[in-house]
Amino acid sequence: MLELSHVTKKYGKVLACSDVSFSLEPGSVAVLLGPNGAGKSTLMKSVIGFLRFDGTITVGGFENKSVEARRLLGYIPEMPSLYPNLTVAEHMEFLARAYRLTDYKQRAEELLERFELTDKKKKFGDELSKGMQQKLNICLGVLPQPKVLLLDEPMIGLDPKAIKELKNMLEEMRSSGCTMLVSTHIIDSIDMLWDRTIIMRGGSVLANVRRSELEKSGKTLEELYFEVTEGSAQ
Ligand code: ADP
Repeated sequence: MLELSHVTKKYGKVLACSDVSFSLEPGSVAVLLGPNGAGKSTLMKSVIGFLRFDGTITVGGFENKSVEARRLLGYIPEMPSLYPNLTVAEHMEFLARAYRLTDYKQRAEELLERFELTDKKKKFGDELSKGMQQKLNICLGVLPQPKVLLLDEPMIGLDPKAIKELKNMLEEMRSSGCTMLVSTHIIDSIDMLWDRTIIMRGGSVLANVRRSELEKSGKTLEELYFEVTEGSAQ
């Protein structure tokens, strides 16, 4: 459903992603792990089409920057970029129009309710706390019901209730066939959810392991992480 082939991205002389290749099966959740600076955000931004890169990325068989791929893709960025002069409700409407969604209103209401933003509907983007901004960011990312969803450090800044809701929602989305790539450096934040882990360091993929393979090896995800990023289990 999502296929990366020899993806390389340089910022000037900095090699942020180096020859990254992997593919994700439909309806699977992959957790992208790695220390700060590993290249996770760069990879996400390349997939979503924000950055130029060398190599190929396809979504549902379509080149990632094509209209067809964009219809399938959703993105929840690490830093919410809200419009200071649009209200919460207007953000949802703006996104719905951009994606030409019809019959979105009930779903938008349900999402805002789920993330406790119903009473904030008339607040402007810059009147929201950091956590509320992140919750709105999540609502905006899932409103178009993407088939492939990229989440960059989605739990950062969320309160425990929102983390629980987000995890439940991701489970539901997986059940309905959504493919997800979740970047994080907090290993246990996604522990229940993942089917595959991709571990990066210095722009390269050091491990690409299915959950069943890891379980067979008897190692925890944390042990695998330290083994591949530091060369030995901690
Ligand atoms: P991660 O998300 O894993 O923390 P990033 O993708 O943000 O890693 O960064 C990978 C590397 O690319 C780092 O060395 C970082 O300093 C560099 N980098 C990221 N964004 C830029 C940028 N806009 N310009 C220059 N270098 C960047």
